[in-house]
Amino acid sequence: MPAAPVCGPMTGPMDTLSERMRELHAAGWSEQCSVSDGGVRCDGCGCWATPEAVNVDKFYRFEGLSDPGDESILFAISMPCGHRGTVPAAYGKDTAPDVADVVTRLGRPRG
Ligand SMILES: [Zn+2]
Repeated sequence: MPAAPVCGPMTGPMDTLSERMRELHAAGWSEQCSVSDGGVRCDGCGCWATPEAVNVDKFYRFEGLSDPGDESILFAISMPCGHRGTVPAAYGKDTAPDVADVVTRLGRPRG
C-alpha cells in the first residue's frame, strides 16, 4: 500500500484536525464537546446525550501517518440542548472500548 502523501513537515494529522476544528468553530460549531460516559458531553451547558440523540452534521476522518490503523475523527454535531460543537475522537487499536463504541454509534447513518 502506498504511503499517504505528506505535504510538509508541519502537516500532520493533528494539524489537519485542529485546522478543520477552527474552520468549524468559525462556521458555528463553536462549543467544545467531548466523548464522556458512553455518550457526548456538551461543554457549553454541561448536558449529556446518547450518541443516538446527537445529530451529526458532518464528520471527517484523519488517517494516522505513523500507523494508518490509527484514525482521528472529528464530528461536527448539534446537541439536543441546541448547542453546536465539535467532538474530536481517536479511533484505533489503543482506543478505549467505551470511546470506540460512542464513535461507532455517532458515525452510523440513521434514518
Ligand atoms: Zn449545551
